[in-house]
Amino acid sequence: MRIGIGYDSHRLVEGRRLIIGGVDIPFEKGLLGHSDGDVLCHAVIDAIIGALGAGDIGKHFPDTEERWKDASSMLLLRHILGLARSEGYEVAWIDSIVIAERPKLSPHIESMKSAFEGAGIPPGTISIKAKTNELMGFTGRGEGIAAQSVCLLKKK
Ligand code: MG
Repeated sequence: MRIGIGYDSHRLVEGRRLIIGGVDIPFEKGLLGHSDGDVLCHAVIDAIIGALGAGDIGKHFPDTEERWKDASSMLLLRHILGLARSEGYEVAWIDSIVIAERPKLSPHIESMKSAFEGAGIPPGTISIKAKTNELMGFTGRGEGIAAQSVCLLKKK
């Protein structure tokens, strides 16, 4: 077994789609980023990379690389799951939290789980929780959205 932790945050800005956990969520702002800014997917990817002991998301997908510009983060996840498989590991469990004051994310959680499974996370092995930050800090003020994740990998 190997364990990894992941954290990410992105700024909320006008004129961007809001994509969290692979789901396009109707909202007046979206997350700024080189890729689609999918903060939850990035936290999950970094947890997997951490469990592999393979550096971090910035090492694998530099934001200077044109091919990752506006890329779906689920493609990046697919890539990292391939790396895990090539090293003989599979996902045993992922737990995660999205911290956002608005919009309300709970109606989208099942769709997010399906999107993760579509990218190769084994069915029934991901937990996603959404919470507010009680109006405190950058997430509480709606300046951005943060996410945390842990991942347990098992040797196949
Ligand atoms: Mg990110």
